[in-house]
Amino acid sequence: MQAYIVSIDQGTTSSRALLIDQNGRVLYTEQREFTQYFPADGWVEHDPDEIWQTTLAVTRAALDYAKQLPGEVKAIGITNQRETSVVWDRKTGEPIYNAIVWQDRRTASLCASLKRDGVGAGVQEKTGLLLDPYFSATKVAWILDNVAGARARAEREELAFGTIDAFLIWRLTGARSHVTDASNASRTMLFDIRKQQWDPELLDLFRVPQNCLPQVMDCAADFGVTDASVLGQSLPICGVAGDQQAALIGQACFAPGMVKSTYGTGCFLVINTGAELVTSQHQMLSTVAYRLDGSTCYAVEGSIFVAGAAIQWLRDELNVLDDAAKSAEMAASLDDNCGVYLVPAFTGLGAPHWLPDARGTIFGMSRDTGKEQFARAALESVAYQTADLVDAIHSDGSTVNRLRVDGGMANNNWFCQFLSDVLNLPVDRPSNTETTALGAAYLAGLHCGIFPSLDAIENNWNIDRSFETSMQPTQRQQLLTRWRKAVDLAAKF
Ligand code: ADP
Repeated sequence: MQAYIVSIDQGTTSSRALLIDQNGRVLYTEQREFTQYFPADGWVEHDPDEIWQTTLAVTRAALDYAKQLPGEVKAIGITNQRETSVVWDRKTGEPIYNAIVWQDRRTASLCASLKRDGVGAGVQEKTGLLLDPYFSATKVAWILDNVAGARARAEREELAFGTIDAFLIWRLTGARSHVTDASNASRTMLFDIRKQQWDPELLDLFRVPQNCLPQVMDCAADFGVTDASVLGQSLPICGVAGDQQAALIGQACFAPGMVKSTYGTGCFLVINTGAELVTSQHQMLSTVAYRLDGSTCYAVEGSIFVAGAAIQWLRDELNVLDDAAKSAEMAASLDDNCGVYLVPAFTGLGAPHWLPDARGTIFGMSRDTGKEQFARAALESVAYQTADLVDAIHSDGSTVNRLRVDGGMANNNWFCQFLSDVLNLPVDRPSNTETTALGAAYLAGLHCGIFPSLDAIENNWNIDRSFETSMQPTQRQQLLTRWRKAVDLAAKF
């Protein structure tokens, strides 16, 4: 008898559901995009009801597809865009405001003023995070302060807060479960990642009442059972993790030192640091990778805001290419980068620089600079940014030995080879790059017995291709030196 998991992948631009079997094979995928709202400069919102409706539609489609197969769906796993925050009415289940998305910068001045008050180090010590609007805490406070009557209602215990996982679980279980997992909780900036509990001082600092918060569970746990009136059947939800942590699990990076890097719109590099919580001195984030059977595995994470988006920009704004994949042959058509460097700081620079005011800049052009140089500079810039993250990790005392890659850009062989060359590390691309959805399925499967252990999951990980470094050290040094000079100049512009 075959056993299947439905993995819900609630992302920033679309909701997806995948049907995954006990060998980790993806049998079916359904996806719906939803509306992005930009109500003011730097504000990004989603309609939680649209998130819910799209999630419901894709989940039902996956369950319908499963009906014709010789087996049954055993459980649901959920992975989600992290930090995005929803506050809803406990009685009606209706959100009191749109979801404030992780990209939203409306609380930048609040974060800056908290920084001036000198609380940053204490916040980092407890949460592993840097004081920034990116995380949930100031988003929740904003909703409570700006929706009429919200704070009073929260004090009367009428409101619930959750990241997207918690909101979906609440709805899927017919309001019976108000829960989240430790990986999502670790992104709220309200959660003490050493003690594994909501922190009263942080709740005070960010003015978030404790009674709004979900209960924090292991990543493989009983999160609740779907209400039969919602999905037509009662299924246990038993695996939950934030998207990047789920990708770490989907890449089977279970041993300390193992690293995955996801190259989509942006890039998220995560290194497993095991039971040890490493606090970065180089502006990387510490976070919960996963918590299983009460034991927490930690990670260090670095995010780059613009990775594949640089290629998208070349395609959509400059018409340098009509298909992202063409960037590989364009880059390969040149013997070298002709001295052209792109710093794609379109929305500032993320880790490890954290330069919100840096802007996209291109250096080193000559009269014969053309489309190929632009394509190459864009691909190279993503590799250089990764090198900066790996450098920060090394400076913090951890060692990266090789890198597992996924995401749209990982399909680009030229990029993977250049990445390996610049990092001086082997780069491994798995045959199944649906790592985020796989991670959630693995967690659910661990809890309901489809996957007996992490070792069994590790055995499912297969390599598609490994890229070995072939660049001379002097050349690598030259490239990185010029890149760093370009970043310095971009920061000063
Ligand atoms: P997301 O999940 O963030 O939407 P995906 O993992 O689907 O991202 O990857 C899409 C991104 O990857 C786009 O920004 C696109 O420009 C880039 N991309 C896709 N394929 C390639 C390729 N072969 N070479 C370079 N970039 C690519």
